[in-house]
Parts: sequence; C-alpha cells; structure tokens
Amino acid sequence: PVRVRFAPSPTGPLHIGGVRTALFNYLFAKKHGGVFYLRIEDTDQNRFVPGAEEYIFEALEWLGISPSETVGKNEKFAPYRQSERKHLYKEYADRLIASGNAYIAFDTAETLDAHRKEHEAQGKTFIYNHHNREKLDNSLTNPAENVLQRIAAGEDYVIRFKTPVDETLHLKDIIRGDIKFDTNLLDDKVLFKSDGMPTYHLANIVDDHLMETSHVIRGEEWLPSLPLHVLLYRAFGWEAPEFAHLPLILKPIGNGKLSKRDGDKMGFPVFPLEWKTEEGISSGYREKGFFPEAVVNFLALLGWNDGTDKELFSLDELAQSFDLNRVHKAGAKFDPEKNKWFNHQYLVRKSDEELAGLFAPTLTEKGISIDESKLVRIVSLIKERAHFVSEFWELSDYFFEAPTIYDEKASKNWKEDTPGLMSDLFQLLEDIEDFTSSNVETIVKDWMAKNEIGMGKVMQPLRLSVVGALKGPHLFDIIEIIGKEETVSRIKRAIA
Ligand code: GLU
Repeated sequence: PVRVRFAPSPTGPLHIGGVRTALFNYLFAKKHGGVFYLRIEDTDQNRFVPGAEEYIFEALEWLGISPSETVGKNEKFAPYRQSERKHLYKEYADRLIASGNAYIAFDTAETLDAHRKEHEAQGKTFIYNHHNREKLDNSLTNPAENVLQRIAAGEDYVIRFKTPVDETLHLKDIIRGDIKFDTNLLDDKVLFKSDGMPTYHLANIVDDHLMETSHVIRGEEWLPSLPLHVLLYRAFGWEAPEFAHLPLILKPIGNGKLSKRDGDKMGFPVFPLEWKTEEGISSGYREKGFFPEAVVNFLALLGWNDGTDKELFSLDELAQSFDLNRVHKAGAKFDPEKNKWFNHQYLVRKSDEELAGLFAPTLTEKGISIDESKLVRIVSLIKERAHFVSEFWELSDYFFEAPTIYDEKASKNWKEDTPGLMSDLFQLLEDIEDFTSSNVETIVKDWMAKNEIGMGKVMQPLRLSVVGALKGPHLFDIIEIIGKEETVSRIKRAIA
C-alpha cells in the first residue's frame, strides 16, 4: 500500500518549495488511495524555532492538503515528532555497530579541525572516510576494552557509518531514472551525535522504515543523501522505499534556486502564510489575497503537467491526473505574474455573491453601507479586471463616492461646448422615470441622434463626470447602480 510522508524540520516558516513537496506527496497518496502522513523532524535542537510547527500545519490546512496521520491525528505510529522518539534511535545505531556497519569515533572538534586545516594546506578537502578512518581516533583503531572504558568515563563520542569501499551503487529514482554512484566518494557520515540525538540520516531512515513508508518524494537537495540512505537500508537489512527527487524551483529571472531575496526584490511572497519575527514580516500568499486553490494549482505545475495544455486543475482533478512519471528532471521556473493569472482565473469563477461577501468588510471599514444585491451587481461588473479581491475598491470606488479628482488626461476631452451639452443631458436624465441601464441608454442615444451630437462629445464627458476617469465598465450600468439623483448631482458638480 502507498504510504508517503512530508517530513519538515520546523526551523522557520515553510518555504513554497516545501509546500510543493507536501502537495506532490498528498496528490500521490490520493491518486493511489494511500496515506499521506506528516512527521516532524526536530532532532536538531539548536535550530528549533517556536511557532514553526504550528505554521506548517496551518499552511497545509489552508491549502486543503492536511496529512491524514500526524501529531494528534490517527497516530498509528506515534509519536510523529522525532524529538519524542529520541529513545528509539540509539538501539538502531548500536545494531549497525554490531553488524560492522558503523563505528564509534572519539575525535574532538579540535582534532577534526586540525585535520581539515592540514588537508586544506595541501589543497585537498578532508573527509572522514576509508582513506583516513584507520588513522583517526575511533573504535576501528582502538582496542574494544579501551573504547568501553572511555565511554564509561563519559568521553564524548559519535557513531559513524562505515561506508563500503570500491563499490558502484546502482540507484533508482522515479524521476531521474538510474544513477550510478561510486561509494569511495562518500564520507562516513555521523549517524548519532554526542548529545544523544540521532542525525537526520539515521532518524529519517529508521522512521521511514518503522512508519512503513512506500515512497520518499522530496526535493532535489536531498539527492546527494540518496547513496547513504540506500546503504543504510541495506545495512539494516530492510527493503528501501522507492525514491523520487523533485526538481528545483528556479528564480523568475536569471539562474539558480528561488530565494526569499527574489521575492523581496520583485514583490512576491515565497511563503504560504505571513511570518512575523522581530526582524520583520515576510509576506504570505494568504495575506496577499491568493485563493488556496490558485496556490495549489500553480504549485502543481511547477515541474509537472498532465501532458496536455490544460492549466486549471482543482485539487480533485490534480489527484486524478497526478503521475510521478510525468514530473520533469529540469528545474521549474517560478513565474509570479503567471501566479496572479491563476488567482484571477479562480476569482472570476467564484459566484458574485461569494465575492461580494469577501468585499463587504472593506466597505464596512470605510463606513459605507450598501444593499447586498447592488454590491453583487457591482462585483459582477468589475471582477474581470481584478486579480485579487483587494483590488475591488480601487476598481469600484466611484460606485460609492463621487469622484473628486478628474483624470487630467481625460479632461482633454472636456471641450468648450461640453458644459452646455452636459447641462442639457442632466435635464434629459432628470425626466427619465424608468432609470434602468438599457432604458437610459436608449433615451440618451436617441437624443444624441436627433440633435446630431457625436458619441464622443457626450459619452466621454459623461464618464468623466460620473467616474472621474475614462475607465470602468459599461457606463449606463454604472449610472443605473448609482441612480438618477447621484448621476445628476455628479454631472452638476463636474460642470460647476
Ligand atoms: N527533514 C528533512 C527536511 O527538512 C526531510 C528530508 C526528506 O524528506 O528526507 O526536508
């Protein structure tokens, strides 16, 4: 059965790349009727950031991709926080020692540093491996009794993996295909630290095994760890899960990985939700007014497509069509403009009633009260022009308040005979009983035709008087909504 996991380390707000990893795991589980679980990888206590764990859960919930098993939820393999599984890992490290796949090392930070410097002086990089492990201070070079005594005396030690020598590993990745890897290039990674905590590698493999993970779907930055992970499964005698490393998310412009700096420079968020610290606020997609469906949609297309031109996918459709075999190897460019386009697509597909409901608080804040059906009508007229509900006010303010500034460029359409025409016009309007868009339009157009007045001569000054600029939807729709009295008073003001 398919069991996949998202395994974030709560070291800060979840980056949008992490959200995509979570999403692909979620989709893969849904597609195969499997389980998507979440495990908190918090063994590195120096990097603990308060609030980060809550942030992760809140972000996934907002996006509608919450795990079905995690801390406090269907805890089949509890606990789901590695810091609470601490007692479990030592035994596994010991097993590897017993089977000759790991060893104890006493080297102090100073000795290791000295070795590093020595190597650097010769233009080489120092790695702890088969070249030098026999010369360093560890259980491979010390008699067993001695090692036990030193441990009993409280000396600090770590447990390192004993990487096999001279072997070519044949690794498989669902996205990248077959990868060959020379084990001589690996160092003997620390599995267990002197502070009694496992490292990421050990805890991750032990937990993926114990929690019956079938597929590991994670970011490309973890590809370098794959050889070690595969070796660890082998050393434990466990069947390894299948692996899929997702392509990098690239900067919108230039080369390299998308970073927070790109977002700051170009004014787009790289986090799903806002994140506040003493240093300041990092903006989030939610607070920018993105709909969660739009965020899910654009993230899904970062490195994947269904093989057609289709771009708009609901979460259910994504779960139907998602296929790891269709994920690209190449990095996926992040396109903030396209992301806004996605939001627009979701916005215009929402009902006018729902959008009016989202807009209403802005109006209340401004002390404006308006009939709900009128607001629904206004929203229906302006939504095509908006990417976000937050743009509604700017697009519709003239429905609620008479313009005070008349667009200067547009004022060029204000000719010498304009006031006279406008004054005839408001008298015409004042006599209209049925003040609906189409009726007013017919009457005004008949009047222009009868008096041989050109369209531009009336329509532009009228729009300027009512809206304050040459913008907005169909003018007679606006006039109907603001009503006769207000229309006439705005014309009077404009010609005064
Ligand atoms: N804790 C790792 C992270 O922060 C998990 C990597 C993995 O999925 O193996 O991304």
